[in-house]
Amino acid sequence: MVMRVIVSGNRPLADLSPLAVEALVPRLKEVALTCGEVLREGVYFPTSGLIGEFLQVKDQCLYTGMLGKNGAIGIEDLGVPASPFGALVLVSGSAAWISPSAFRDVWARNDAVREMHLRYCQARLRDVRRMAACNAAHLAEARFSNWLLLAQDCLGQDMISLTQQQAADMLGVRRTTVTLWVQELEQAGIIGWGRGKFKILDSAGLEARSCGCSRHN
Ligand SMILES: [Zn+2]
Repeated sequence: MVMRVIVSGNRPLADLSPLAVEALVPRLKEVALTCGEVLREGVYFPTSGLIGEFLQVKDQCLYTGMLGKNGAIGIEDLGVPASPFGALVLVSGSAAWISPSAFRDVWARNDAVREMHLRYCQARLRDVRRMAACNAAHLAEARFSNWLLLAQDCLGQDMISLTQQQAADMLGVRRTTVTLWVQELEQAGIIGWGRGKFKILDSAGLEARSCGCSRHN
């Protein structure tokens, strides 16, 4: 029963057919996601919290995306030996987790799970292509508004427990630059900032300041 509630809280799992859920549920384990934790192997289906995906290049950690209850972390890298990508918990929460071997086993036996895997990977590829274009062509200030809207979507709430330094790291700018943008958005009544948290007060206003790459399907 508890696991069924978890399944309904994660978008890729909630979209599965009852038969596919039937096959997956016995293999899923409920796990806590703790801020600062680097996720291990396997597939995580978060129901709350926020995860940053990153690429390690030399001694630099480059963020490649952000996911929450809308995502399935680690699903693209199944079977890839020594993937250079990792996932870091940015906001604590919870997830359903399945080991790589158990997921592969269910995947091999269940058409709906294979279909979910394919659709999810296609959607992620679309996101990555869109983000590559956005990073190359759109101003960092507009991308900051996108970043806030994306975090809002992943968390499913207006309160975003991320720091200005995390925003700067993910956008590849200085923290002082983020502070200037925050002050401007605060003055416009679009967001609030305090105690290491952003609060979105006017989503439509934020959308208008963004380059339009955050809301898509
Ligand atoms: Zn953009």
